[in-house]
Amino acid sequence: MTNTAAGWQGPILDNHFHLNRNGRFLDAAKDFQNAGGTSIVLIHCPNFAAPPTSKLGHRESYQDTITIAESVRKELGLGVRVVLGPHPAAFAHQFTQWVDSDGHAGKERAMENYRTSIEEAVKFYHEGQAHAIGEVGRPHWKVSDDIWELSNDLLAETMRLAATDGFALQLHVEGELESTYRDMAAMALKAGLSVDRLVRHYSPPNVDSKITHGLTPSVLVGKNALNTLLETAENSSHGFLLETDYMDDLRRPGAVLGPKTVPKRTQQLVAAGIDEEFLWRAHVDLPDKLYGQE
Ligand SMILES: [Zn+2]
Repeated sequence: MTNTAAGWQGPILDNHFHLNRNGRFLDAAKDFQNAGGTSIVLIHCPNFAAPPTSKLGHRESYQDTITIAESVRKELGLGVRVVLGPHPAAFAHQFTQWVDSDGHAGKERAMENYRTSIEEAVKFYHEGQAHAIGEVGRPHWKVSDDIWELSNDLLAETMRLAATDGFALQLHVEGELESTYRDMAAMALKAGLSVDRLVRHYSPPNVDSKITHGLTPSVLVGKNALNTLLETAENSSHGFLLETDYMDDLRRPGAVLGPKTVPKRTQQLVAAGIDEEFLWRAHVDLPDKLYGQE
């Protein structure tokens, strides 16, 4: 950009955005757009109270997210990429419930349901209706060893599939520590998956590659994230993405960052003197590389 006084004039992408028909829905996307946003990565969100338990259920639930994406494109003209998959929070609860009530049979059932969920998501990916798989991962709260092991096994399986089928994964993982990054990088290596195809959603602002181990961090850009992000950007291996994890849940207003946050922080990063190369990567190059065209 030539004129920094005018601020950032390029595209602005939020890498983790949910929309909910019972939430603010298109109005939230409109807020993002009015603040200067041009593109969202729309992450599928299941009905947490009752995640799907059948092939048809998964399909219909994904189809709804695809339909929402179409509405956003058509009504607002925003760019939208779609990410589909079994949300680890919803599915860990399902696992726990089934294993507790039905022991080994419950575990089998949970694994089968997870696999069906992935299969249906991957079908949409191959049809060109989804751009990546996610959010997948493991529970971010303490669970039994059994559930933890099962979550890891299924995640490893999904990484192997990502390697053979060529899609990127948006990861929802626990904690904020370097150990999680290290773990994920080791799992990717074992699965034959290029580490940068793992996008860590809800990433802490330290993007130094000594911490990220080559994963792609998607930084949750709360106000307090800016300083660390500015300090560590130069040491990132290949850049980072920016996100709000906007939930669009009217029952929890203010629980997460609002839809205008990524455009606002982008301008603040420019004002603070960030090398704009990083913003081109965050808003254009990395999304293209990870997800393909909108
Ligand atoms: Zn999310």
